[in-house]
Amino acid sequence: MSVHSKLYEGKAKIIYTTDEPGVLLANFKDDATAFNAQKRGTIADKGTINCSISSKLFQELETHGIPTHYIDNPSPGQMRVRAVKILPLEVVLRNIAAGSLCQQTGLPLGTILKQPLVEFYYKNDQLGDPLLTRDRLYLLELATPEQLDTITHLALKINDVLSNFFQRCGITLVDFKLEFGLDAQQRMLLADEISPDTCRLWDTYAGSDLDGRVLDKDRFRRDLGNVEHAYQEVLQRVLKAVDGN
Ligand code: ADP
Ligand code: MG
Repeated sequence: MSVHSKLYEGKAKIIYTTDEPGVLLANFKDDATAFNAQKRGTIADKGTINCSISSKLFQELETHGIPTHYIDNPSPGQMRVRAVKILPLEVVLRNIAAGSLCQQTGLPLGTILKQPLVEFYYKNDQLGDPLLTRDRLYLLELATPEQLDTITHLALKINDVLSNFFQRCGITLVDFKLEFGLDAQQRMLLADEISPDTCRLWDTYAGSDLDGRVLDKDRFRRDLGNVEHAYQEVLQRVLKAVDGN
């Protein structure tokens, strides 16, 4: 496979076209941003770590029947993926209250939700990725009702698979963000990445100090320190869990 040209450079990845039709190469970067890119930095080895974690999670999801864009991992930090037309939606699944849910509802941090909460945000950096209502989503024609049903069904199943997987890692899956897209056959595929950049992951058994349990980008967002170590720790536990240990 040879790489053609840069298709898109985002905050966390550079996407290249390749000589294979319908195949793109995602190059994961060490750059870290938060609060809609108002805070910027780098996290050592984040690109390769997130690429590896994402690859393992996509493979785990595929074995459970979730269609994803993942093809393979030709070299560290690089993922071959099926090209899709990304829906401009950030699909957020929450099991435990954190982040904007606490800020906007007053629910205390760490509240266990009675059932998973599925939310849709408008993937639009200029507007600051606002929370959508179903009617606004239809008004803007971001997805059809059928597509939204498919996405919701997939997102809940993904939550089950990932929650179980992370449980085996001694990690609590608090919440996460997904992106979906349509391939040339109009098939809805899970795309983008699943990593400590896009999930809240809490060490299940690390004691009562909540901040001490954080193994995700909140360490960067909130200057909690040991950011690289947390990302490495997640990777090690993910690799151990896929090896069946
Ligand atoms: P962002 O700054 O929007 O978070 P990223 O750097 O995370 O962007 O990713 C780069 C872009 O690649 C994003 O717009 C993402 O939606 C897009 N993308 C992810 N997977 C695919 C895919 N399979 N096909 C096409 N685009 C994709
Ligand atoms: Mg991104």
